[in-house]
Amino acid sequence: MTGDTAVSLINEQRLLERFMRLVRIDSESGGEREICNVLTKELADLGLTVEEDQSHLQTGLGSGNIYARLSAVDQTTESSALPILLSCHMDTVQPGRRVQPQIDEDGYIRSDGTTILGSDDKAGVCAVLEALSVLRERRFAHGSVEVLISAGEEVGLLGIRHFDGKRLTAKCGYVLDASGPVGKVYLAESGKATLTITATGKAGHASMPEQGVNAIAALCKALASHPFGRRDGDTTSNLGSISGGTALNIIAEQATAELEVRSLDERKLIDELSSIKAAVERSLNRDGTTASFDEQRTCDSYQLDAGQPTVRLAQQAIQRLGRTMITGDNMGNSDANLLNRFGIPTAKLSIGYEHIHSRDERIAVSELVKATELALFLILEAVGFNSSV
Ligand SMILES: [Zn+2]
Repeated sequence: MTGDTAVSLINEQRLLERFMRLVRIDSESGGEREICNVLTKELADLGLTVEEDQSHLQTGLGSGNIYARLSAVDQTTESSALPILLSCHMDTVQPGRRVQPQIDEDGYIRSDGTTILGSDDKAGVCAVLEALSVLRERRFAHGSVEVLISAGEEVGLLGIRHFDGKRLTAKCGYVLDASGPVGKVYLAESGKATLTITATGKAGHASMPEQGVNAIAALCKALASHPFGRRDGDTTSNLGSISGGTALNIIAEQATAELEVRSLDERKLIDELSSIKAAVERSLNRDGTTASFDEQRTCDSYQLDAGQPTVRLAQQAIQRLGRTMITGDNMGNSDANLLNRFGIPTAKLSIGYEHIHSRDERIAVSELVKATELALFLILEAVGFNSSV
């Protein structure tokens, strides 16, 4: 029996009704109030203890993050089950207001073409809610399940950065928030740092270049001395912006460049930053300018190995729904970067949506069902899971 032919445990009609209803609720980043209230109520109705944290007081977002928890059915199950965390986000990118979803003849759900759809990440939200609904109505045994629905994910993971990760008790986590067919599991995402370089020269009149030092020219030359772009299979660096000078008849005294570096490998990230700084500083100093650097770490990388319970449980759940796990890594960042930093080994899961952050965003009904089965099977397979193999 494969998952594709098995009678699904999922109530597809209820799942679709919820999905169509939730994507109609405006929830662009910063405007999360209404969706947060709705999700808080639905989680409470499903028997979870629900709490909205107060992070919006710091972030200025429309709401805090939702943290909900379902305790194990009984002590025996609790001791045999791996406590898990399911995570997704409630906000969307723009244009995400007044979404009019439709189910097309080809089996895909799309917007009317004037907005995004919002399956990123309401597909993840609905998968979790429907899985919890099935769990409740079928009275399946389950261990402890924590649910974290972040606000402001689309604006630099802002919500989760202000979540108190110490309260999480799960031993493994899943972020239901990646493109592509259900079955793909991301085991690594990059770390990221930004670097602002300011070059200071000497101002003077444009007609007397001998009396000044042009910071723009010096900075351009310095940046040209380093090969930006793809540095190796794990590492990229990108010059994002450059600015400087004040007027055409003034030798530019100051120039600034902003760049970012990403790597799946922590060591390489640090090495790339050092090598940029060394090359730029050497060149600037040679040309009589001074350099200053402002470095910000925006994300730490994570890397799970195949033997970890997080990965093995995902593999088991994917097998149960009739597919084979495909693993990959991602040069982007997600809430999984933060959850790993909180100490919960967390993987990011594909949930079937496509062409996100565009008006062409879509999700196949069949993939939405699969994503829901995946959430359910993660909970069910966690019972009696042998985490020590
Ligand atoms: Zn997302």
